[in-house]
Amino acid sequence: MKTFSATTRRQFIVTAGTTAAAVAVNAQTPAAAPAPSGPFKVPLLPYPAEALEPHIDATTMGIHHGKHHKAYVDNLNKAVAPHEGLQKKTLEQLIADIAFLPEDMRKPVQNNGGGHWNHTLFWNLMGVPGAAGIGGAPPDGPLAVAINGAFGSFAKFQEKFADAAMKRFGSGWAWLIAKADGKLAIVSTPNQDNPLMQGIVPNGDRGTPVLALDVWEHAYYLKYQNKRADYVTAWWNVVNWTAANALFEAAGKPAGKAPGK
Ligand code: MN
Repeated sequence: MKTFSATTRRQFIVTAGTTAAAVAVNAQTPAAAPAPSGPFKVPLLPYPAEALEPHIDATTMGIHHGKHHKAYVDNLNKAVAPHEGLQKKTLEQLIADIAFLPEDMRKPVQNNGGGHWNHTLFWNLMGVPGAAGIGGAPPDGPLAVAINGAFGSFAKFQEKFADAAMKRFGSGWAWLIAKADGKLAIVSTPNQDNPLMQGIVPNGDRGTPVLALDVWEHAYYLKYQNKRADYVTAWWNVVNWTAANALFEAAGKPAGKAPGK
């Protein structure tokens, strides 16, 4: 269920939709009107939509990926369509440089570029419950060591991460990030903001995402209704620690310290 190559995060984004792990989930993606053509595409899920059952149900996954993620991509393509120079940028470059974009581009890229980037990461940070490296505590390795060092224990880390997910008012995300100095931190962002967004997210909350949890209601409402805490508890069973560990290791390398460049 490895969906990351141990290369740079930018390469991950570029190749996320074309890995061999991308199985025939496209057949389950709801049909839709023709999307505006553009440089950005919805990646395939790296597993079938029902693969995360019973923790995350197939209907939610199908709508979340096939409708919500697709809408972010369609709207991002619309936003960059009039700007030929911007169409050539990678998604990660756009995300990191939002504050420096032309004014009419900022909100569309913040919301839809963020939505595309965040969801691409989110799919790859989950996997089939019970498979190697999925759920439970992180396997021995650099990330497990760093989590214990930063938070005292895996249980304390889980508690703090779940707290960030629960305290996010309204829509947003909880993140485990590796900061520029290599230290781990737990942060939360509203809407589709993410910790790479220079000039948008406070400097203290910026860093390279290692773990991401979508706490928009669209991520859980069909199965869990208003019980976000139950969704967060269940989500731990599908966390892809192999992928998280790869992100953590890449963040410590020079290429991972300069997102977008
Ligand atoms: Mn979402």
